[in-house]
Parts: sequence; structure tokens; C-alpha cells
Amino acid sequence: MTEVDSDVDSDVFSNICSSCGGICCIDARPPLTEKRAEILISAGLRPDDIEHAGYKRLRARDDGSCVLLENGRCRLHHLKPETCSAGPFTFDMMDGRVEIYLKRESICPLAGYLLRDREAYERQLKLAVEKILDLIENMREDELAAVLKIEEPETFKVMEISYDRHRA
Ligand code: SF4
Repeated sequence: MTEVDSDVDSDVFSNICSSCGGICCIDARPPLTEKRAEILISAGLRPDDIEHAGYKRLRARDDGSCVLLENGRCRLHHLKPETCSAGPFTFDMMDGRVEIYLKRESICPLAGYLLRDREAYERQLKLAVEKILDLIENMREDELAAVLKIEEPETFKVMEISYDRHRA
């Protein structure tokens, strides 16, 4: 589920995500920087709920739900991983640029809402870019390479940013 930077967005986003039932928190396994892992553990996440798949990520339960999903909501909403806060935007990297993608409305009603409200779209895009760059800058290079292998189907590109990780 998605983080927002205004109370207006927060209420609207919360309603849309609740009506969807938290589908983006099923089989999500969001990547964690070392910093994010420490923050979540300080807030009560069990270290066993972090697994390794070439990078650190949150574990999913047997039914696929994220270990932080409780009653359809994120238990640590305000501390959640960067890719969760950035949603429904996601990213890829190639040839010295970061590419920002948006999920298709067919898999995310929040994306449809953003496409119809330009101001909300711009606010969430700004937040998503901040979170994604924070993730990139705080993740080890080998871990980032593993994260970039994750397929993100049903998305389309909305923005490109020139980026040199070594100068960030
Ligand atoms: S960390 Fe929170 S928002 Fe992210 S997948 Fe898990 S329950 Fe959902």
C-alpha cells in the first residue's frame, strides 16, 4: 500500500487501497536497504521476517501476504519500504538513467485515480522519485542488480531521469 504526503491524498488513497483489499501486498516481498531493515526491526519487525534473495526483502506468509499486512492494512505504514511508498509507481535502470513506470489501472485502481487527478499524480510522482532514488543510493550494487531483475508486468513508462549512481 502506498504512502502519501498530504492528508487529502492520505484519506483518498486509504479508501481506494482498502476497497482493493491490499492486492499489492500479496507476493510483494519488497526490497530492503540495510537502513530500512534496521528501522523496521526497531519498530518491532522480527529479524526472521527478512529473507535474502540476492538482496534483503520482507518475507511473505504461506498465503503470499506480506508479513506486515494485518487486517488489510500495513502494520508499519509510516515506515514501510521505499517501493511500497512509491506505488503505484515503480522503476527500472539502464544506460545511465532511472526510468519511472506506472502500474496499469487494470491491476491498480489507485493508478486510475492518479491519472484522473493531475495534482495528486504530480504529488505522488514526486514522492515516488524521492523514495526510489533513496532506495538506489542506499542499496549495495550487487543487491540493486538483483532487484532490477524483478519483472514488473502491466506497467508503462512515465518518466526518465539521468542518473549516475557513483556521483549521487
Ligand atoms: S510493507 Fe506494508 S505496504 Fe509494503 S507490501 Fe508489506 S504490508 Fe504492503
